[in-house]
Amino acid sequence: MKIQILSDEMASRIAAGEVVERPASVVKELVENSLDAGASEIFISIEKSGTALIRVIDNGEGMEPEDLALAVERHATSKLKEDEDLFRIATLGFRGEALPSIGSIAKMDIVSRPQGAASGQRVRVEGGRKDEIRAAPSSQGTTIEIRDIFFNTPARRKFLKSPATELSHICDVVNRLALANPKVHFRLQHDGRTVADFVAVSEYKDRLQQVLGREVAKGLTPFEWHQTDTATLSVHGYLSSAPTSFPNARHLYTFVNNRYVRDKILTHAVLQGYDTLLMKGQYPAVILFLDIPFIEVDVNVHPAKYEVRFRRQSDVHDAVFRAIHQALRAEAKAPSAQAGPSPLTIFTGVRDAPLRYPVAAATGYFDPAQSREVFIVPPPAGLVPQSGFFSSLTILGQILGCYLVCASNQGLALIDQHAAHERVAFEKLRHQLDDGKVATQSLLIPQSVELSAGEMMLVERKLDVLERFGFSLVPFGPGAYAITTAPALLPEGDYSQLVRQMVAELAEVDTSARLRQRLEERLATMACHSVIRANRKLESDEMRALLRELDQIEFATQCPHGRPVLLEFSRDELERMFKRVV
Ligand code: ADP
Ligand code: MG
Repeated sequence: MKIQILSDEMASRIAAGEVVERPASVVKELVENSLDAGASEIFISIEKSGTALIRVIDNGEGMEPEDLALAVERHATSKLKEDEDLFRIATLGFRGEALPSIGSIAKMDIVSRPQGAASGQRVRVEGGRKDEIRAAPSSQGTTIEIRDIFFNTPARRKFLKSPATELSHICDVVNRLALANPKVHFRLQHDGRTVADFVAVSEYKDRLQQVLGREVAKGLTPFEWHQTDTATLSVHGYLSSAPTSFPNARHLYTFVNNRYVRDKILTHAVLQGYDTLLMKGQYPAVILFLDIPFIEVDVNVHPAKYEVRFRRQSDVHDAVFRAIHQALRAEAKAPSAQAGPSPLTIFTGVRDAPLRYPVAAATGYFDPAQSREVFIVPPPAGLVPQSGFFSSLTILGQILGCYLVCASNQGLALIDQHAAHERVAFEKLRHQLDDGKVATQSLLIPQSVELSAGEMMLVERKLDVLERFGFSLVPFGPGAYAITTAPALLPEGDYSQLVRQMVAELAEVDTSARLRQRLEERLATMACHSVIRANRKLESDEMRALLRELDQIEFATQCPHGRPVLLEFSRDELERMFKRVV
């Protein structure tokens, strides 16, 4: 017999709290048990986003009948023996709380057959009541079925989010465990359909591709860092190169001794490693593994074991920061190795005149030194009477590839053409969204977007939302959708990155009002980045059209991010600058 009931003293030292928050917590606990049991195949089937059924079948070591009877008791575990073990936790589980907790809020059925046994045994628990152990046919390993979660606690059932959200939490759990265990075959089925099937791989890159999709995986490069002096900390993983970024941290995975954790120190160190390479609000894709002696990390902090405490916090921060920073620096020296276009470099220029702008633009800055030409604009042939401040300006020319120089009746006016275009695009789009009809363009050649299993499920349910924003998607083989229409306002380009970002927002936000706001922001930002960038020569007609458009919108003096569109110098100011007056 391997399982023991922890002494009261030990039990009292275990971080207390609720293990089962939602169906995904059950999936996490069960799959962790399968991994601790050494399984190489873990098949998960769920129904109704886990609320009706969660079944986990593993081919792990199984349980002897007497262990099976104990497993569902509180504080019963095979993973902690002595007091000291609590400071050296090498297994995913150790609290002996998961099975009894699940058994108290659901109908649980466990069938297990250990190696060498002639047959399996079954135990049933319902609302905390345990039945007799009975013989049951079974292959080697353990099968656990959980039905009707929260059937006896309707209040908690009410707290569950939409089925799509609960399902995406389950996918997240499976993805994290799969990233940490590439040699294990994971399969997830929902209502009879296979959502994920990650066969065991020997190349880690293949697991990345299975979990994150080919597009994201393609842009990731390996990194590694070891503490040289004491050789106790080591950090390795995969990261996205600087110009690739995502609107949220959903592709940021941190593992400590192969356990997925959410830790402020680790996240902070990763982001600090990227420093100014990312725009505000943008996140990299990083899969980070920190290996640290068990004695140096306390995992007994959080009931769901999502948090850890480090003995040497600043050493850990330092190690992670260095690992990331060093990897990015090495990459910057060999930019040809850089992967994929950044979301900001996708829409380059306007429809009729595609243009590449320097990568520096992706950071929000550009180098005026790169363009010294001055274009003088001939006055318009037949002067059309115009109304409005901007139309009243006389355009003198364009300098540095990005500023319009104009005479105003006050004096001198400078217009940032990029900021102006941003504002115009943003306003047009907002207008179309308000009217409920975003003008669309059909794509001659549909573009495919590869999505992870969880994202696929989400998109399937939210096709109408994307449609409202001008994107029509149709299924395109397993794991992909094809984009058939895009908002007319966006110039031709690769829309898949934008759609992926919108899907990321869908996954994060539950209420429709907030979702609209977020998607609007995202699309607006994209519209902004789609417009004429700095360093492009504008024809005089284009300049005049731009000024006319500025007159038609509100808030024309700032771009949607708050930078000014217009700087004006009056006679007084000019005279003061030239010291004609003091
Ligand atoms: P913990 O994982 O913290 O020990 P659990 O309540 O999750 O506590 O599980 C109790 C015990 O049941 C485990 O320690 C393990 O011995 C046994 N067990 C649970 N699931 C499995 C499984 N899939 N295969 C083999 N043994 C299992
Ligand atoms: Mg467990």
